[in-house]
Amino acid sequence: MDRERYSRQMLFAPIGEEGQEKLKNSAVLIVGCGALGTVAANQLVRAGVGHVRIVDRDFVETSNLQRQMLFTEEDAAHMMPKAIAAKSRLEEMNSGVEIEGIVTDVNAGSIENLLENMDLVVDGTDNFSTRFLLNDACYKHGLPYMYGGAVSSRGMSASFIPGETPCLRCLLGSGYDSSGDTCDTIGVISPIVDIIASIETAEALKWLTGRKDKMRRSLLQMDVWSFQTQEITFKSPRPDCLTCGTKEYPDLQQARADEAVSMCGRDSVQIHSRTSFDLNQLAEQLQAVLNVEVTPFLLRVEISSDERLVVFSDGRVLVQGTDDISRAKTLVARYIGS
Ligand SMILES: [Zn+2]
Repeated sequence: MDRERYSRQMLFAPIGEEGQEKLKNSAVLIVGCGALGTVAANQLVRAGVGHVRIVDRDFVETSNLQRQMLFTEEDAAHMMPKAIAAKSRLEEMNSGVEIEGIVTDVNAGSIENLLENMDLVVDGTDNFSTRFLLNDACYKHGLPYMYGGAVSSRGMSASFIPGETPCLRCLLGSGYDSSGDTCDTIGVISPIVDIIASIETAEALKWLTGRKDKMRRSLLQMDVWSFQTQEITFKSPRPDCLTCGTKEYPDLQQARADEAVSMCGRDSVQIHSRTSFDLNQLAEQLQAVLNVEVTPFLLRVEISSDERLVVFSDGRVLVQGTDDISRAKTLVARYIGS
């Protein structure tokens, strides 16, 4: 172990040398590498968690730089996938950590593989459909789920432990709708993101170092602008909860291949078109008629002044400039084929 590197963390008595050794032997999955995910990844990698797996489906854009702390202007200019850019930045910070960067969509078909060999899941997502999926997957596999979310100047966080605490579905109910407010519609400031991600990380460190008695048993809500905080203490799990009660895991049961989703507030639609794309071959086809940019990770085609297709090698197409799913499907069928 790198004693000098972790000396201040080991001097912190609740972690100590023993806790540091446990961190080294731990593996964490971070789902979503936006604002929350970059902050959590930065802290966990610096703290010496032995294996960090980062999954994100998106690429870096200029509007991310205000709060997504691992990314640079160059990442945005090169349209780097967030998972790849994060991995290379984090490796510069701590070469002793095994870091995986996976560019894919987290859905019912992929989540269980992504959980393999992991000890805990950190929520870096921006939507409740993925959160309910993570909640189901974590409870099914007995992994703690560090939930966090931030929008505007407000944030929420809770640590869900299968077999011990209620789950996200117990707290919010199945049909929870976050009223449609997202970072892309009403904005977000970085202090709330950093706070929420830091709380998620602190809870993760407690679990991973064996101090689970210290974990918070509440849903924390905070507004960093008006400075209000509220904590709702956990009650018992609901016996009829479809996740932790009856163990039906409804969000894991959904067949999601071939799915088209409108990306809330982003004026874009994601279509899972096939299992993979050969980007260079596709670029050759399209270059004759359209303006195409291709990187090792994605291909971007300008269709008109306000519509664009971004094709990922994992089989996804992001249609930018529309939130209409049928329009998006038409464009994909016309330019890429189905
Ligand atoms: Zn539950």
